[in-house]
Amino acid sequence: MAYSYDPQNIFARILRGEIPNKTVVETAHTLVFHDIRPHAPVHVLAIPKGAYVNLDHFAAEASAEEIVDFHRTVAKVIADLGLAGETGYRGITNAGRDGMQEVPHYHLHILGGRLMGRLIDPA
Ligand code: AMP
Repeated sequence: MAYSYDPQNIFARILRGEIPNKTVVETAHTLVFHDIRPHAPVHVLAIPKGAYVNLDHFAAEASAEEIVDFHRTVAKVIADLGLAGETGYRGITNAGRDGMQEVPHYHLHILGGRLMGRLIDPA
């Protein structure tokens, strides 16, 4: 699969420091920041710093170091935000047209702080 990445997408611009963000944590390969239009009391976005358009691109082509850094950072954020264990949270990633992805840079939504309801809202 050949993936094409748009370097002008908004998260690429955040990573280049062209647009501000409310950072939760930053590591060598990962940035976690607050979603600008939160859908829950906690709504953060975890993104790799590398140029990956979506989950399958990241999973197929990122280095082991990037993949480990991303997921360890996500685990730490989930714990730090008080969502680990029984409390729980929802992790969502959207891809492409059917996933209704708005920003073409891989991101994992982490939502919590309320009951999330059923997974799919029928269209
Ligand atoms: P998606 O539909 O999965 O591509 O979600 C994109 C998410 O990015 C949405 O929840 C937006 O609210 C969020 N978003 C867009 N621009 C910004 C920004 N500048 N800072 C933080 N979050 C943003």
